[in-house]
Amino acid sequence: MEARYEMHLDFLREYDKEIFDAIEAEKQRQMEGIELIPSENLVSQAVLEAMGSVGTNKYSEGYPGKRYYGGNEYIDVMESLAIERCKKLFNAEHVNVQPLSGSPANMAVYYAMMGVGDTFMGMKLTEGGHLTHGHPVNFSGKLYNCVQYGVDKKTERLDYDAILKQAKEVKPKLILSGYTAYPREIDFKRFREICDEVGAFCMADIAHIAGLCATGIHENPVPYFDAVTTTTHKTLRGPRGAIIMCKEEFAEKIDKAVFPGLQGGPHNHINAAKAVAFKEALEPEFKDYAEQIVKNAKALAETLMEKGLRLISNGTDNHLMLVDVFKGKGLAGKQAEHALELAGIYCNKNTIPFDTRTPWDPSGIRIGTPVLTTRGMKESDMKQVGEFIVKALDNASDEGKLKQIKEEVKEFCDGFPFYR
Ligand SMILES: *Cc1c(COP(=O)(O)O)cnc(C)c1O
Repeated sequence: MEARYEMHLDFLREYDKEIFDAIEAEKQRQMEGIELIPSENLVSQAVLEAMGSVGTNKYSEGYPGKRYYGGNEYIDVMESLAIERCKKLFNAEHVNVQPLSGSPANMAVYYAMMGVGDTFMGMKLTEGGHLTHGHPVNFSGKLYNCVQYGVDKKTERLDYDAILKQAKEVKPKLILSGYTAYPREIDFKRFREICDEVGAFCMADIAHIAGLCATGIHENPVPYFDAVTTTTHKTLRGPRGAIIMCKEEFAEKIDKAVFPGLQGGPHNHINAAKAVAFKEALEPEFKDYAEQIVKNAKALAETLMEKGLRLISNGTDNHLMLVDVFKGKGLAGKQAEHALELAGIYCNKNTIPFDTRTPWDPSGIRIGTPVLTTRGMKESDMKQVGEFIVKALDNASDEGKLKQIKEEVKEFCDGFPFYR
């Protein structure tokens, strides 16, 4: 995308200089740095405009055609468009576009399908799962009996036979697949079989890979899973929010769990922006984008491995990779994240499977290509990005050198303008 989007903040600039300046500085930071956090993206001007619209003014508890407030004629148009486009995009039977974010979307499905104390299976946080997949500090680990699965120690990939064996033992009411830090293709068909074999509700959380699933670059579980949640702001490149897609037979239960079960009024400006993002994702160019994300991730993985870094599972099939910086560079994850930040390169420290360090200071970092791909970078640019990363890690305790790299990074990023 060769976009040069204009920000329209003229009134804000006049009225609230403190907030205007912070927003402007954040925009500069986004433009001048190499953004590698795989759960982030840059939205189009159309999405930004919808988000900044008068939809925010309206209360509309309920669903299109069945609201608890008057005056929802046009809000119904927005929400219905979001639903219809989303159905088409993912081949979904039923869609709820109201979840405020990924965590509340997962909460709504659990709330609809399980009772307090029921058993479900999700992936461990330390091996790629999300907090809401049953971590003990999260509601999902407190209200439900979560029995967690992990990856195979040797391959660092899912072991479906082991998951089936575990499922036969624990007899979960629900099995959740889809992750936050898993660099490999997920065999959703196999998860469906496992769920059928043990009689579990079959759920996926595709927050990270939704853009890849929508375009068929990754297997799309939506048509044959019972329920699938996703955020809309990661590879899907929409506003910050989430959706739930499900089989018609679970529609009423899930809609009731979202509202009135857990939420109040929907965020209509965001739902309008979701509709815009789904329109964009239905364009043929979006498939090229999703394809390029994966090509870029593979190219970046190659560069890093050539330079001696160990990647978890030796590579990637999707948009992200986990780098063992402790083994490769003798750096703790926290130290690596900090050094990269000083060089204008943004990532997050992350546990690696069977990490010998603590979650607060793990052995790895997690990086991905959705943002850089949105900015128009290609495989050859990934070579340069990989070189910046390695150079920063090699000079992790030399602040002067990191500052110098930051200048080079800025110059490189100037070649890929996005927001003006
Ligand atoms: C990001 C993410 C979420 C949570 O989304 P929020 O919008 O931050 O609440 C849930 N599940 C997975 C797999 C994620 O990656």
